[in-house]
Amino acid sequence: MEEGEEELANKESTRREELEAAHDYRRQLQERSAEGYEVAGKEARLRWVDDHRELLADIATTSWGPEPTGLGFAEFKKELDGTPLFTPHDDPLTQSLIAMLCEEVENACRDLGIPLRSGIASGSTPALQINAERYSVPLTEASVLSLSSGFITFCSHVSKVFSLSVLHEADDHEIRVSCNPKLVIAKIGASEDLKGYWTRLFGAYAFGSGPLEFEHRLVSYPASVTRIRLLQSMERFSVAHEYAHHIADHGRREIIGAGKDPEAIGEEFEADLFALSLDRYIGTWSNPFSASGAAAVLPLKCLECVNRVRRVFLTGDDVAPPRTTHPETEDRIAAFDGSDELAPDHAKRSFKAMREDFSVIVDEVYKRVRPIYVEMHKQGLRPLDSTEWLP
Ligand SMILES: [Zn+2]
Repeated sequence: MEEGEEELANKESTRREELEAAHDYRRQLQERSAEGYEVAGKEARLRWVDDHRELLADIATTSWGPEPTGLGFAEFKKELDGTPLFTPHDDPLTQSLIAMLCEEVENACRDLGIPLRSGIASGSTPALQINAERYSVPLTEASVLSLSSGFITFCSHVSKVFSLSVLHEADDHEIRVSCNPKLVIAKIGASEDLKGYWTRLFGAYAFGSGPLEFEHRLVSYPASVTRIRLLQSMERFSVAHEYAHHIADHGRREIIGAGKDPEAIGEEFEADLFALSLDRYIGTWSNPFSASGAAAVLPLKCLECVNRVRRVFLTGDDVAPPRTTHPETEDRIAAFDGSDELAPDHAKRSFKAMREDFSVIVDEVYKRVRPIYVEMHKQGLRPLDSTEWLP
C-alpha cells in the first residue's frame, strides 16, 4: 500500500468509528427522551403498512390524481424494509424520512465541495415537543442530528393547514397559487374547518400533545402539490440548518428555541443563510417556496405562535422576555434578505414579497385565534409538564 493510500484508509476507518460512536450517543439521547413512550418496532410498522393498504392507496389517489406518482405500495414497503436502523429504538418510518433528507443535503454538500468532517448520525426521538437538535459528539469530528417526533408531525401539520388555506387555480398546464394575505385570511375566516384547524395546530403543540391531536387528513389536488413542496422545503431547511452547525463546528449543542451560548445568535444567522442557499440549490429553483425562502419562514413563524400560546396557557398573557441565545424570529426572517443576492434580479422583489405574505398570514391568523387561548386559560387550562418547557 502506498503511503498516501494508507493515510486515506486510516482516515476512513477513524471516520467510521466516530460515526458509530455518534449513533451510540444518539441511542443514549433516545433512551433519555423515551420515558413513558413506546416506540413501534420495525415488525409492527411493516404490519401497519400491510393492514392499511387501502388507506395508503387512497392517499396516493386523492393527493396525486388518478395517476399516482411517487412511491407505490410495494416500493413504499420495500423502502421501509430496507431502511437501516442503527439503534434498537429507531423507527423505520421516521428513519427512512430523515435518511432521505440527510442524503439530499449531503449530496448537495459533496457537489459543492463542502467537507462533512466525520459525518452526522441522524435519527429521531419519540418526544412530543418540537425539537430539532444537533449535538457534537465529544472527542470526535462527528455530530448527532436528532428530530423529535413532534418536530416531524409539526412540519406535516403546518404544511397541510397552510396549503389548504392559500388559493389554487389549476388547468391542464399549471397550478397557480395565490398567497395574497387579504384573500387567504378571508378564506380562513369563512371556513369553520380552517379556523378550527389553525386553532388546534397552535393549541395542541402549545399544550404539549401536538402529534396526538390530529386525525388523518387528506389534502386533495391541487393543494396537495403545494403541500408537498412546502413540506419538503421546510424539512430540508431545518435539516440543512443543523448541518450548517455541524460543518462550521458551532457551539456544543443546538436546540431550536433555547440554549445558553452567547455566540449563538451570530451562528443562527449563519446557519439560516446556509440552509436557505442549500434548499434553493436542491430545489433547483423550481419549487417557488424554496426559491423564495417563504417555506423557511413557516416553521419559524408557526413555532413562535406555539411558544406564545404556551405562554398564554401558563400565564394568561403572551408577552415574552427578550431572547438571549436565539435571535428574534422577526430578525431571522429579515436576515433572509441577505440570501437574495444570489437570486436572479427579476426575482428578488417577488421573493421578498412572498416571504412577507407568509409572515403576515401567520400573524393575522394568530391575532384572530389568540382570544380563544386566553379564554381557555381563564377556564383553567394549563399545559402538560408546565415546569419543563418555558418558552
Ligand atoms: Zn440553529
